[in-house]
Amino acid sequence: MKTKSGDFVLPGDALGVTEEFVPADWTYDDEGKIRSLVAGTVSLDQKNKRISIIPKTSSPIMLSNGIVVFGQISEVRGQRALMKIEGEKDNKRSLVTNFSGGIHISQADKGYVAKLTDEFHIGDLVEARVTKVIGLDNVDLTTAENELGVIKAMCTNCRSYMKKMTKNEVLCPNCGRKERRKISAKYEG
Ligand SMILES: [Zn+2]
Repeated sequence: MKTKSGDFVLPGDALGVTEEFVPADWTYDDEGKIRSLVAGTVSLDQKNKRISIIPKTSSPIMLSNGIVVFGQISEVRGQRALMKIEGEKDNKRSLVTNFSGGIHISQADKGYVAKLTDEFHIGDLVEARVTKVIGLDNVDLTTAENELGVIKAMCTNCRSYMKKMTKNEVLCPNCGRKERRKISAKYEG
C-alpha cells in the first residue's frame, strides 16, 4: 500500500495500516487496515500521520430516472435502506455525485420481501437504478432486477467483505458468518 496524496480511490480501497497512520475523515479501520469509505481523493498528513479522503462531490451531471448508480448502504430501517450514491455505473471516475438514495422494501427484489435486513446491511456496496429524483437526499432507487443489488457485502460481525455462496447467501472468509442478501448477478467475489 503506497498511497499518496492526490490518488483517486473507491470505497473499500486500502490506504495504509493503523500501525503507521490514523484513519481520519471518510476512512475506516478494517482490522488494522485503513480503507476508504467513499470515492474521492487521498489527503495524507505526514506530520500528524493522518489519512483522510476528500469526497468527490462536484458533478457536471444530474441524476436522472433510469440510470444505474453505485454506492454504499449507510442505514437499514424497517422499510427503507439508505444509500450514499457515489456515482453513475461505468462512469466511476468522472461522474460522481453527492446524492443520497433510498431503496424501499417493495423495490428491493422482484418477489415479496419480509425483512429488509435479509437484503442489505450497512457497508454493502450496491448497484441500483434511479426511479425518481426528489432532491439531493431523496432519490428513489430499485434493485428488483437480476443485475442489480449487492455487489460487495460487508460482514455484520467483522466488516470483512464476503464471498457469494448461493443466489442469496454470502459467507465471511474471515469469521465464517453466513448472511442473506439481495445479490446482484454481478457480485464481485
Ligand atoms: Zn466476518
